Amino acid sequence: MTTLMQSDVLSRHLRRHVPLENKVAVITGAASGIGREIALTFAREGARVVIADLDRDAAEATACDIDPHAKRALAIAMDVTDEAQVEAGIYRAIETFGRIDVLISNAGIQTIAPVVDLEFAKWKKLMSVHLDGAFLTTRAALRQMYRQKSGSVIYIGSVHSKEASPLKAPYVTAKHGLIGLAKVVAREGGAHGVRSNVICPGFVRTPLVEKQIPEQARELGISEEDVVRTVMLKETVDGEFTTAADVAETAAFLAAFPSNALTGQSIVVSHGWSMQ
Ligand code: NAD
Repeated sequence: MTTLMQSDVLSRHLRRHVPLENKVAVITGAASGIGREIALTFAREGARVVIADLDRDAAEATACDIDPHAKRALAIAMDVTDEAQVEAGIYRAIETFGRIDVLISNAGIQTIAPVVDLEFAKWKKLMSVHLDGAFLTTRAALRQMYRQKSGSVIYIGSVHSKEASPLKAPYVTAKHGLIGLAKVVAREGGAHGVRSNVICPGFVRTPLVEKQIPEQARELGISEEDVVRTVMLKETVDGEFTTAADVAETAAFLAAFPSNALTGQSIVVSHGWSMQ
């Protein structure tokens, strides 16, 4: 009896330390920045991960860093705006690992310009990566999640899902749009055991942000230091950047959450930049 109780306590203890054990997570844009950190964190917590990214070589490097034997990490070259590539990539993920428990729609780009000067092609490109990409990957993953009667869809939104900044019209519009999509997926998915939530990070120093610091400095006519201090971190409680690890921990929490109680929500992780 004691032994049984002890082993029960031990197995609960172990479960706490590998909360994502045996889960399969598809992460788009996982060859860099936030997506890469999510893939590393999920793998550490026991998940098998699919690194889906436009950049095939970087996706393969990330998968190899996680598991050089390619048993627990699969790299897939995928442009999330291309319907055929998304369908084929999700099919390959299911063929390889047998299921999809978590979709993290993370692939994203940025473009900096005032509305009055914004090229239509840049508007459409950004919308397509963020919104078409979220839709196409969600639709493909949901078919499998509905078959399994379980799943968690996590969108990487932004504080710009809630707030606006100048020079970022398409980004702010697309990130607000993700909250709408997540709420509909939560409503429709509930009956199938599928949850859907959005993580809204503040600024994280990834290649996406490093690129926009000089661009914003040019547009605003201020120094790069001032872009960081007076634009990016001005409204935080402590002048600190959010880290990719902060976002990855939040994603792991959402992925491991055990019930439909936490669905249709958007969680801001931003050192207090945005408070709800
Ligand atoms: P990043 O540039 O480091 O990584 C983005 C990844 O997406 C790259 O690997 C890139 O190859 C991939 N990608 C781009 N277009 C793609 C496409 N069409 N199909 C597939 N993959 C594509 O950027 P990041 O900062 O890690 O951003 C990741 C997500 O987090 C984005 O959605 C971004 O909007 C969001 N976000 C970032 C910050 C930040 O401050 N860095 C803050 C809030 C939200």
